[in-house]
Amino acid sequence: MHKYENISAPVIKRLPRYYRFLGELIAKDVTRISSRELSDKMGLTASQIRQDLNCFGGFGQQGYGYSVQSLYNEIGHILGLDHLYSAVLIGAGNLGKAVAVHMSFEKRGFKLIGIFDNDKNKIGTTIRDIPVTDLDELEAFCTEHHTDVAIFCVPKTATPEIAERLYRLGVKNYWNFSHYDLSIHYSDIIVENVHLNDSLMILCYKISDANDAPN
Ligand code: NAD
Repeated sequence: MHKYENISAPVIKRLPRYYRFLGELIAKDVTRISSRELSDKMGLTASQIRQDLNCFGGFGQQGYGYSVQSLYNEIGHILGLDHLYSAVLIGAGNLGKAVAVHMSFEKRGFKLIGIFDNDKNKIGTTIRDIPVTDLDELEAFCTEHHTDVAIFCVPKTATPEIAERLYRLGVKNYWNFSHYDLSIHYSDIIVENVHLNDSLMILCYKISDANDAPN
């Protein structure tokens, strides 16, 4: 059972983009916007935008456009951004550090509460004022601090054992940068996989496709 049965997966995929764009409008003190202006600025058709926004309540008023703030709030609400899910990050290497430092967790519905690694040289250092803790203390930490989400920034080979430990602790939501396919092994988890190389390959495909197209 899901809260928003009427919102399709493609619409959900577009929500972060709407949210980001509306946030930029708010920063520029724009209070109302028409679907036409929104479509010009976002590169979608006006009817697409109207259809999308109709899925979660009619915010537009004929002739008046949309209230930017109401739309922003509602999309944030649908995305669950008014929560703060607590997250631990596993793997304080190059990627883990970049994720810990550069992600605006608090504005995106999460609070980073712990960072773990098994490298003695990293344990005890701090990233974003959070101490890197020995992975041996994972169970004690997650028992003491309610943990909703784990972020995997460890190599693929390290992921299965750590995932099993988290799963047993009841931590079943994952932001997965490791290339290990968690959903094959656990049917009742929520996982969002990030593969930057996939995005790069899609770019390669698009360039190749455009260059090889018949004139
Ligand atoms: P890195 O070597 O700099 O960092 C890996 C960290 O994981 C190290 O600090 C290491 O001590 C720690 N670690 C390894 N095994 C561990 C274990 N069993 N328990 C706890 N900590 C452990 O590597 P990186 O550049 O940060 O990349 C990490 C992984 O992420 C790589 O495997 C890489 O393939 C992957 N990666 C994915 C993407 C993506 O888009 N999904 C992008 C870059 C890297």
